Amino acid sequence: MKVKIGLETHIELKTESKLFCSCNASSEKPNERTCYVCLGFPGSKPQLNEKVVELAVQTALLVNCKINECSEFARKTYFYPDLAKSFQITQYEKPIAQEGFFEVLSKSGKKRIRIRRIQIEEDPAKTIYPQGNISTSSYVYLDYNRSGIPLCEIVTEPDFESLEEALVYTKNLFDLFNYMDIIDATRDGVLRTDANVSIDGGERVELKNISGSDALEKSLKAEINRQASLKSAGKIIPRETRVYSEETGTTIKMREKEGEEDYGYITEPDLPILYVPQEFIDHIKKSMKRLPEEEVALLKKNYSLSPHAAEIIVYQKGMLEFFLTASRNFKNYELLSRWLINDLLKSLNWNNKQISSIRINDFLEFLRALESDKINERQGKELIKEFVSTGKLKLDHVSDLSELDGAIVQTLTENKKAVEEYRAGKTKALEFLIGQIIRKTKAKFKVDLIRQKVQDRLKG
Ligand SMILES: [Zn+2]
Repeated sequence: MKVKIGLETHIELKTESKLFCSCNASSEKPNERTCYVCLGFPGSKPQLNEKVVELAVQTALLVNCKINECSEFARKTYFYPDLAKSFQITQYEKPIAQEGFFEVLSKSGKKRIRIRRIQIEEDPAKTIYPQGNISTSSYVYLDYNRSGIPLCEIVTEPDFESLEEALVYTKNLFDLFNYMDIIDATRDGVLRTDANVSIDGGERVELKNISGSDALEKSLKAEINRQASLKSAGKIIPRETRVYSEETGTTIKMREKEGEEDYGYITEPDLPILYVPQEFIDHIKKSMKRLPEEEVALLKKNYSLSPHAAEIIVYQKGMLEFFLTASRNFKNYELLSRWLINDLLKSLNWNNKQISSIRINDFLEFLRALESDKINERQGKELIKEFVSTGKLKLDHVSDLSELDGAIVQTLTENKKAVEEYRAGKTKALEFLIGQIIRKTKAKFKVDLIRQKVQDRLKG
């Protein structure tokens, strides 16, 4: 069976305000961020948010697209309750970018997925089905906070030949855009997909409104299975639009597939042609962060980090900045990266906290205590846990070198015979003394540190 999949990925761009008005793009209560423009009142005029153009250009560059110097907005006309003005402003004939590619690495090897086009468009309002889904609810709620949120739609050619390729592509895009600050991964529904699926050269079926990667996997699987069983029963697969139902675990028919011509696109008369000169693109290129794989390579080269450590530091939000700042004042990079990605990161995840909650100077003080053997690894692990959960670093509570010095002096005074034996060359006597000190200090200090200190003292 030959599977063919094309994806239309919608990403919510990370902007402060909406695409065509100054309404705040993030909100907590439904319908609190709306105005005449995003509610589509007659006579209201859209004004393009320049930040959206910046992010769309970045998106286009990341998937190797040609950016059009002139692109235009169009009205896609249809009636739906989530669309107050009965049309959606999108790009149709001349999108902002086209003809790109994105490489994915799956089990079947490296593959180039062709990108057909990228367009800027506005999100409709959010429809909430209080009794389950569209077929089980007798009424709906509409939240217009989402109306007018800027989206970039990235349309591929039907180049995916397996479910796995489609999933890897989607995950890689998500990670990359999140890393580059184009999307805000913490927002709900930040990545939504429509998919075209066909098998063995048959008619393609469009799957609508798939939110997130788990849903993408389930819906593609269900649709491929459905088509395969229709085909093996000798039935025809009609061209149509379907949606995945979580309740039944299958895709269900929404409507006969409409063509693009059914939408009656017209050029948007209230917006000028979008002009993106080469200087603007060059400026964006210069201002963009380095790509994650370049950062990984730099970490390996400049700080001798392992590929594993470098990748974790790069892909964990905020970790790279933390590492780079910390490394300016702490040159034992191995120790720094090890404690950062193991104990600190684990404790942060456990406490559901961000790295930004950690004061770099506290962490450095902790590392210095470790490096100078003021504390040992076991104590370090306990300290980090406490540090992350309470926000307080309590080095003094755990360790006090004067306590160790006191214990050593006392032990040497109490065991004069062993001291003489050691001085006469009996190494076993040293082990005996160390054992006594460990007992006295309740194993609070590293053996190596105790040995060093005892030897120093007996030398003098
Ligand atoms: Zn608004």
